Formats: sequence, structure tokens, C-alpha cells
Amino acid sequence: MERAVEGIIGVVRGYLPDADGEAIRRAFRFSQARHGVQKRSSGEPYLVHPLSVAQIIGQMRLDVPSVLAAFLHDCVEDTATSLEEIKGQFGDDVAFLVDGVTKLSKVEYTSKAARQAENFRKMLVAMARDIRVLLLKLADRLHNARTLEHLSEERRERIARETLDVYAPLANRLGIDWLKGELEDLSFRYLQPAEWSDLSVRVEKTRKQRERFIQEMTRTLAELVAAHGLRATVTGRLKRMFSIHEKMRRQHIEFEQVFDLLGFRVICDTVAECYTALGVIHSQWTPVPGRFKDHIGIPKQNGYQSLHTTVMGPRGIRMELQIRTHEMHKIAVEGIAAHWMYKEGGGLAPGGKDAERFRWLHQIWELQKDVRDPTELMDAVKGDLFSDEVYVFTPAGQVQVFPKGATPVDFAYSIHTDLGHHCSGARVNGAIVPLRYELRSGDSVEILTNPQQKPNKDWLDFVVTSRARAKIRSYLHAEQRKRSQELGQEMLEKEFRKAGVSLAKAEKHGDLERVAKEHRLGSRDELIQAVGYGKIDGRTVVQEVVGSDGEEEKEPPAELRESKLLQLVRRVAGLDSASIKIDTVDDLLVRLAHCCNPVPGDDVVGFVSRGRGLMVHRRGCPRTLELDPDRRVSVSWDSKAKLDRPVTLRITTAHRPGILTAISQAFSDRNINISQVHAKPTSEEEAETAFTFNIAGADKLQELTRALEKLPGVTAVVRV
Ligand code: MN
Repeated sequence: MERAVEGIIGVVRGYLPDADGEAIRRAFRFSQARHGVQKRSSGEPYLVHPLSVAQIIGQMRLDVPSVLAAFLHDCVEDTATSLEEIKGQFGDDVAFLVDGVTKLSKVEYTSKAARQAENFRKMLVAMARDIRVLLLKLADRLHNARTLEHLSEERRERIARETLDVYAPLANRLGIDWLKGELEDLSFRYLQPAEWSDLSVRVEKTRKQRERFIQEMTRTLAELVAAHGLRATVTGRLKRMFSIHEKMRRQHIEFEQVFDLLGFRVICDTVAECYTALGVIHSQWTPVPGRFKDHIGIPKQNGYQSLHTTVMGPRGIRMELQIRTHEMHKIAVEGIAAHWMYKEGGGLAPGGKDAERFRWLHQIWELQKDVRDPTELMDAVKGDLFSDEVYVFTPAGQVQVFPKGATPVDFAYSIHTDLGHHCSGARVNGAIVPLRYELRSGDSVEILTNPQQKPNKDWLDFVVTSRARAKIRSYLHAEQRKRSQELGQEMLEKEFRKAGVSLAKAEKHGDLERVAKEHRLGSRDELIQAVGYGKIDGRTVVQEVVGSDGEEEKEPPAELRESKLLQLVRRVAGLDSASIKIDTVDDLLVRLAHCCNPVPGDDVVGFVSRGRGLMVHRRGCPRTLELDPDRRVSVSWDSKAKLDRPVTLRITTAHRPGILTAISQAFSDRNINISQVHAKPTSEEEAETAFTFNIAGADKLQELTRALEKLPGVTAVVRV
């Protein structure tokens, strides 16, 4: 073991020439003395664990206090060592790191979950203050994951699950690719042992052949770029198990279809040479459309930079390529450590540009202040922080966090309602962008306003935050009320004129208030709005005003008596509690909306639309969210209803021979005639086909949908 310690000192001196080797030896001896004869589940001396963690820390190129803390990290938790002792012997810095990874022990918890959550919270808080705590925890976890086989099945699964859910995403956020990859592979192995061994057999079987191809291609690629005067390092690699597995699972494809089991890296001296190399490769082999990604121009959130492309290589084998500079490569391999290790003073809190990149750490800090319940915090961190978020800046340099897909409109509403209402455009990083522009991390956003600008119904299509959505809706409703008032006023004046009655006089007599009351409305304004909305017919109001005056008893027009409209008016006025029955499509006053095409049996709602009778939508149709809830009426299908309605299903399928035949068979098995088919490929792997046909009811449709979903190769069936 002493040899291993000297090895670690050598590694650390490799990147920190002045590293204090004696301190490292001292930490090792301290750990050795404290852990004594303790053994791990594997039967090995316990000391192997802190030693291995220290080795990983050296591999991450961390500073000396981190290496010391690696040796000491389990002393406080598992031996009779106090934190004060560590502090006295090794200083505050090391003690802080050790404390950060030491689980809480003194507090009693009601459940194991609560304890786990609180420990997690403690670690989050510490790592938000100093990222070395997180790196230590990751190194500790990596060694534990490597030695999972010695644990009970239950513990093994729990640790593997936590590793996959929390620690691998953290490693990814830090940009440490190898660590993320190894954590994923180890978790995969113990979480899905059957899939893992099945896959490893297949990978093993083809390994020789693929390795030969990699060698051959590495040479060809190197010669190719060299022939164009570029100096570049070319390497080839086999894909990791977990990423092959994920690809098969996500795309529903077989092992043989995972083309890019091999990847190649071309590492150049300069950015310009990266693009030149790309051009050389693209002119030699045909690039696969849609696979080129410029992560040099647009770095990933964790700072990763590379050009990605896939080309059809020799013998039709697809090759996935990454092209990057040496500097970018270093960052991709070392992650966050690459950003600070060579800085003066060895301080580990990233500063400057890096600080922006790692805002999410600060975000965790903020989050734990707001969310007091540790279980909730753990969920928030797992769900929220690792789901895609974008971090953007105000002109003053303040960070705002939004869900992925957020637009300048979301940004504007998050600052102030008025700013949102009058938001007419935005300047992102100095350039004008459209309102539906999707914000990217690092964007600096300035909202442009115009006093004439008003929220628009279309905004609801692209905003993603609940705040923006709510504000836009309430504005639109207020606006709709205002317009209905104007329109209702106009319609009433017209109707009154036609009937030869003075509206002004009726107003003076308070007739409108009275009629409003009869309709259970709060005021004359509400009555006028109801007319404007189409809820109440203007003629009805005239009749009710005139009728009570007794000047002239007018019969309601014949077409109004007992008509659907009258039923409708009654219903809306609360006179009729039964919902409107739909029994025929030919009813002029009832229309089935085209946006969602309801069929009998669907859960439906009706909306009174001005001049067009009653529009029936499926419950949950997005259109209905924009309609005024005041105009909503309840409707239901008449049990005798027999409506043959056209319906369209959009079916997503993998490219696979015979799939369309199988789908057509599912239709003809049910005597359903397809009236229209519209197919389009959406990607290399998938196609979307829209089938239009007539169907009599929702139950039949459901049955068909289920049958289609079961067909192999069908990935989604969506009703349009
Ligand atoms: Mn440990």
C-alpha cells in the first residue's frame, strides 16, 4: 500500500510540482491507524477504499487538501475520530471537506428515506459552497459502485439506482465524461443484470471485428487529414454499454441497428483546423443528414465543445465522429477540473466565465433555502435541476432560470407583468430575435417594449412558464369582456331600433338592470356583454323590455320558439339543468369542432360561438383553453346518436419492412376503410404516417388504437 501512496504522490506532482508529499503520507498513516483492522464487505482491509478514492482524486487532478480528505473521508463517520482532530492535524480546509461528505449521525429520523434525504441535503449545501465536496463524493461513489458485487442484492440495487439517478447526472453536469460513463455502466450492470449480460455477450462477439475496423479506419482518417496538411491525433473507440442500451431502448431498435457502435475522435491544434478537418472528411465520405452538430460554435451547457458528425464510411458502415481541439478535449475528459487546476493560488471555486457556467451550483444553494422539506428538495434536485433548464442574464447581469423552451415573453413576464404585456421583441446577445425565440443558457436578454403592443392569443402557443400563461390569459379575458361590451351595445342598439323602441329610454327606466336580474346577471354591463358574447340574443332582450312595458305584446319569432337556440339560452341562463343532447351532425346550431374532431362517446364540452351556434370540442382540446369559460355549456351525446365521423390518427413507426401492411391489416380486420394516408419520414430512424378514416364511436376508436400500439415497430399513436 505504501507503494500505492507513493504512486499517488507521483501523479499529483505531475500536475502540481510543489505538492506536499509528506502531508499525503501523513494522511495515509492517520487513516491506516484509525481504520485499523476494519474490513470491507469484500473482505479486503478497509484502507483499500480511502486509498482508491485518493487515486481517483489524483486522476481528477484535484489539489492536495482534496487528496488528504480522500484518505480521511470515512474516519469521522466510521471510526472514533472527531472532526476537531482532523482540523487540528490537517487544517480547516481538509476538515471542511471531510465534514461535507460525512453523513449526519446524531439526529434521529422517522424513516430511512428521511435520513437519506437529509444527508443528501447536507451534501448539497456543502458542495454548493465548495465543489471539491461534490468531486470527493463522486470519487467515493465511483469506488463503491466498482465494488457493488460484494453487497446484498437490496443494498446493491439501492446504491445503483441512486448512482444512476443522482451521481451520473452530477458528473455529466460537471462535464466529466469518463466518470459519468463508468457510473452509468456500473449502475446498468446491477440494475438490469439480464439485459447487461445479454448485451455484453453481443458486444463481445463482435468486438474483434469492430476493433480491426477501428484500427484500419483510424489509420485511414489520420492519413486523410495529414494529406491535407493538418496535424491531428485520431483515436477510435467502442461505445459504452449503457449508451448502446439507451439507444436501443429509446429508438426501439435491435443491437444490429445501433450503427455507431464505433466512434472516432479527431483532435486538432486550432478551431480553424477542426472545421477544415470536417470539410475534408465530408468530402471523402457522405455525411448523414441531420447528424451534424456544431458544439464548437454553440457549446453545451456544461462547457463541452466539439463538432459532431456521422458519415457513411467504407463498406457502408456509419461512423460517428467528434472533432475538437486539444484544449476542448482536455475539458471533455477532465470536466470542471480543467477550468481551475492551473490557476494561481490553486483556489477551487471557479471564477469569471466559469462561474456563469456553474451557476447551477449556486442554484442548489438557493433551492435548499426555499425548500425546507428534505425529501422535496431531493426530488426537486433530481427532477428540476437535472431536467433541462436554461440560465440567462438580465442586462444588469442577474441570472434568471427558465425551463427549456422558454422565450423572451416568459422572460419579460418573470420581471414584470407590464413588461410582458408590452413586450414587442427582444435583443439577445445584441441581436434582435423574434418573440418565439427559444432562450439558450448564457444568453443575455434585453426586452424591447412598445406602448402599443398587446398580448396576443398566439403567445399562448409558445410560452412555457405558468406565470406568463396566467398573465396572458387574464389579459385576454379582460380584453374579451371589453370587446363584448362594445359589440353587445352595438347589437342591442340595432335590435332596439329594429323594434322601434328607444334603448336610451329603456336604460333610463332601469329596464336593462331588471332584465339582467331576470337572467341572473349582476349588472346591465354583464347583460350587454352576454349579448356581445352571443349568450343572450338581442331580440330576447328587446322582447323582455317591451313585454313588461305592455306597450305591444310581440310573439317571439317562430324560429325561436322551442328551437335549439332557445334551449341554449335557457341552459345558459340556468333555466334548464339538463345538458344539451347531440344527436345529429346536421343540426345547424351544433357543430363538431374540426380542431379535435369529437366522435360519439368522447368526453365533450360545448361553447356558444357568436352567430355559429354551439361548437362542440373534445374535453381537453387545446383550443378550448383559449375560449371564454363563460361561454361554456355542458353537452352530452344522445345515446341514440349514430354519427360516422372522420378521424385522423398519426402513427409513428420505426423504418421496418412490412410495418405499413400490418397497420392496414389492423384497419381492415375491423372493417374500417381508410380514406386517406399521408406519410412522411421524420428522421433516419422514424416515419410518421397519418391515416384518415370514418368511425362511429370512441370505444371503437380506442380498441383500434390499442391494437395499433401493440404492433411491433409502432412507437406512438396520436389522434390528430
Ligand atoms: Mn467512502
